Amino acid sequence: MKLQMIGTGNAFAKKYFNNNALIEQDGFKLLIDCGITAPLALYELGIGMETLDAVLITHMHGDHVGGLEEYGFQMKFKHGRKPVLYLPDTLVEPLWNQTLSGTMTQEGLEKLEDAFDVRPLRAGEVHELAPNLNVELIRTQHIAGKKSYSLLLNRDVFYSADLTFDRDLITTLVRDRGVRHLFHEVQLEGVGQVHVTLNELLSLPEEIQAMTQLMHYADNKNDFEGKTGKMTFLEQGTVYSI
Ligand SMILES: [Zn+2]
Ligand SMILES: [Zn+2]
Repeated sequence: MKLQMIGTGNAFAKKYFNNNALIEQDGFKLLIDCGITAPLALYELGIGMETLDAVLITHMHGDHVGGLEEYGFQMKFKHGRKPVLYLPDTLVEPLWNQTLSGTMTQEGLEKLEDAFDVRPLRAGEVHELAPNLNVELIRTQHIAGKKSYSLLLNRDVFYSADLTFDRDLITTLVRDRGVRHLFHEVQLEGVGQVHVTLNELLSLPEEIQAMTQLMHYADNKNDFEGKTGKMTFLEQGTVYSI
């Protein structure tokens, strides 16, 4: 599997694009989250939106869904097709009614299924997205009143998306389920109210830190180089082989 972060920034970052990931497995391209900056981030990497095979959404925040309108409209008006959209089954109704309907509604576009080939995913089940690519959604806590999910890819790669610190989840994944790659969001400074702080992650055992790469960070990330224990930063645009 190849992983390329088209952005590694948090919701307010300006030096980095929104934290969205491009996964490639056996030629199948999956974009994890499609934030406000995703269309520009893909453009700057020379990746046309029409080359994506599917998009997978983890939760409804602008840095994770804000690019879906352009994606849907580009596919409809430039390419004449509905793109495949994987998302938690609990978000199908709110994604349209609370977010996209306001600007996408027109004659013939009256529900999410009119714009996208919608593939709802149920948390806790393993879903085959393509040959040699499966995903399990894990319900996590991020913001009160908002449903948010982490991802387990191919039973081996944990992708946190946005959440609050969950030591039990991380240790269970590593010790009981054999996960060896952790792509984890980080809030570099301050008290963690809706995100996981660097200090919280530094409290994990070193053998787990050594499997952990950090993403969804602020513009002052460079001030924290060398201060992340055994953890390393994921770099925007770099292609990683997993
Ligand atoms: Zn976010
Ligand atoms: Zn969020």
